[in-house]
Amino acid sequence: MMTRRQKIIKLLEERDYSVSELALMLEIRGKGSKKIILDDIKAIANVVKREGKILLIQPAQCKKCGFIFKPEIKVPGRCPKCKSEWIEEPRFKIGLK
Ligand SMILES: [Zn+2]
Repeated sequence: MMTRRQKIIKLLEERDYSVSELALMLEIRGKGSKKIILDDIKAIANVVKREGKILLIQPAQCKKCGFIFKPEIKVPGRCPKCKSEWIEEPRFKIGLK
C-alpha cells in the first residue's frame, strides 16, 4: 500500500498537476482537501530534494488580467491587481535538478 504522499510523488513524476486535479485523482473531497494536498506538496518538496530532484512550480495566473503570482505552494483566492477570483491554479511537477 502506498501512502497518499507516495501516490502524489508518483503522479508528479509523470506530469504536472494542479491541486484540484490531485484531489480528484486521490478522491479527496471536502472543505479541507486543498489544504491537505498543499501540506503534502510542501513535505514532498523537501523529500525529493534529498533525492536530488526538485519540485517545479508553474505559478498561478489571473485569468482576467493575466497577473502571474509568485511560484508558491498555495492556491491564491483572488488577484491582487484586479481583485478577480477567476484564478488558474498553480501546477506542480517533480523534475531533475
Ligand atoms: Zn487579475
